[in-house]
Amino acid sequence: MSDIPHLQVPTIAIAQSGGRFPVRRIFCVGQNYADHAREMGADPKSQPPFFFTKPADAVVDSGTHLSFPSRTANLHHEVELVIALCKGGADVQPADVAAMIFGYAVGIDLTRRDMQADAKKSGRPWDMSKGFDRSAPIGPLTRGAPPAQAAISLTIDGETRQAGNLKDMIWSVADIVAILSTYVAVAAGDLIFTGTPAGVGPIRRGEKVQGMIEGIQPIEVTFDR
Ligand code: MN
Repeated sequence: MSDIPHLQVPTIAIAQSGGRFPVRRIFCVGQNYADHAREMGADPKSQPPFFFTKPADAVVDSGTHLSFPSRTANLHHEVELVIALCKGGADVQPADVAAMIFGYAVGIDLTRRDMQADAKKSGRPWDMSKGFDRSAPIGPLTRGAPPAQAAISLTIDGETRQAGNLKDMIWSVADIVAILSTYVAVAAGDLIFTGTPAGVGPIRRGEKVQGMIEGIQPIEVTFDR
């Protein structure tokens, strides 16, 4: 029986703590800022939020050097507010969401944009364009519910590529969790990427990518040449 695998639960850092937060699932919201929805060719107002997922073990700590992902010639960055749940439930009310949040962090939803474009065109799933290995770099979690407004930005080698504000999210964190919980029962350990502002674009080999939300610890990863 020695060939039965022993699996480890993936974890992410908790700011100002030696502790680690165990990750159960990673959910992501598509097109939650009007300017990004427009740049992707969608009408920002007309649609309810939609969700996709990444595997829990796609998480990556800040400071990591990453090999460049396979099967893409157009790796994109999407800087996002990430929330971590310490309580779950089905059909939760927006007013109850704040008490379900353990903390929040800044993350980068890495995307094989060329593969995603092919999937969109052919009506096939997004999984391999979004949920690949090490596709979810996330900075240390700050305890408590996120602010309703704060600057969010991303730089590559120090040059600003994305700059927005959490106040411009189409769907609030409370709405996102409430709506997601009508599709699946959300649970303690779940992470939710809440969408990206405009300015998504390519990452090249050798570049350093830093995601920031005002007031919390950044996420920084560097891609090998
Ligand atoms: Mn995204």
